Amino acid sequence: MSGFIFNEKPIQIESGDGPYLYDDGGNEFLDMGASYACVPLGHSHDAVDAAVRDQLDDLTYVQASYPVESRTAIYELLAETAPDGIDKTWLCNSGTEANEAALKFARSATGDSKIVATMQGFHGRTMGSLATTWKNKYKEPYEPLIGDVEFVPYNDPEALGEAVDADTAAVIVEPIQGEGGINPAEKSFLEAAREETEANDAALIFDEVQTGMGRTGTLWAAEQSGVVPDILTSAKGLGNGFPIGATLCRDWIAENYGSHASTFSGGPVISAAAEATVSTIVDEEVPAHAAEVGSYLREEIEAELGDTVRDVRGEGLMVGVEVKRGSNRLLKQLALNHGILALPAGRSVLRLLPPLTIEREHADQVVDALVDELGDGS
Ligand SMILES: *Cc1c(COP(=O)(O)O)cnc(C)c1O
Repeated sequence: MSGFIFNEKPIQIESGDGPYLYDDGGNEFLDMGASYACVPLGHSHDAVDAAVRDQLDDLTYVQASYPVESRTAIYELLAETAPDGIDKTWLCNSGTEANEAALKFARSATGDSKIVATMQGFHGRTMGSLATTWKNKYKEPYEPLIGDVEFVPYNDPEALGEAVDADTAAVIVEPIQGEGGINPAEKSFLEAAREETEANDAALIFDEVQTGMGRTGTLWAAEQSGVVPDILTSAKGLGNGFPIGATLCRDWIAENYGSHASTFSGGPVISAAAEATVSTIVDEEVPAHAAEVGSYLREEIEAELGDTVRDVRGEGLMVGVEVKRGSNRLLKQLALNHGILALPAGRSVLRLLPPLTIEREHADQVVDALVDELGDGS
């Protein structure tokens, strides 16, 4: 028996510490992707891992219908730290499940079915979330999906206004598109989404699976837009490597969610991991640090390579560098020649989502490597 979907990288990782990963030969790699934004506090973080060990000493699992301290604690912490008006949480195990629940809750609470999503958007790979994901390659082998989804160009408030109507249950949007190429939403687009959903009694869903947990310089990217959605979804970095997702809702959604459940919802161990992750991010003012180091990183890339690359964009430590040639070769060169692990976003964008705890020296290391690989104008 063997796995057949993942496992393709030629490096065997054996340990991690902060922003670094180490392979079986003891080679050090700077993890500028945080393994898809999943370790905002860095690898093997002491406080998170200790919270998990403590919880394991007491109780590994009990069914979700019994309240446990760690789950209550993460509910309270998310209510305290979410944008005003959002204080109910559904816990699950991944980003796609968080969005799947968001779509179900929106349909149930509004009694409507149509979903408006954005071109280049990514919301996950279960049937519902997948239907709201843009890329055909991800969808075609599995069709028919849930139907009743209309895509509008990202950052086009007029097209959005035309798409949202009386039959609309929800608009789902990432405040910054991650997978789609690190495309930040204009404030006016998110404001239009808020106005149109309100006028049509539809729910506004912000997918913060990638933008959340301080990555963009505030705990939630929503804070920077001033727009408060009805539903906000989280996952990836929420457990600093432990699998957890969350669907945060306003009361009118939570009161009309229908009938949804999942066996492992908010288990004691992942709840402890999430509580330790969120409280560390908030207490140590990690988002402000991400904003500072992220600006520095973007400015340095711009200064050193502004004429060489097509574009540098993003917020905080969610950074996209659009290169002239494909990003694949560059990713390999960064790994092999410089010990830097980064991510793609589509064919031409180098995506940097490092642990939010990196310092300027790590940013310098990345800029030096990029200059070395791209400095001749390629
Ligand atoms: C990764 C991602 C998802 C899916 O999360 P999974 O945990 O892989 O299911 C959904 N939305 C966004 C914006 C993502 O980046």
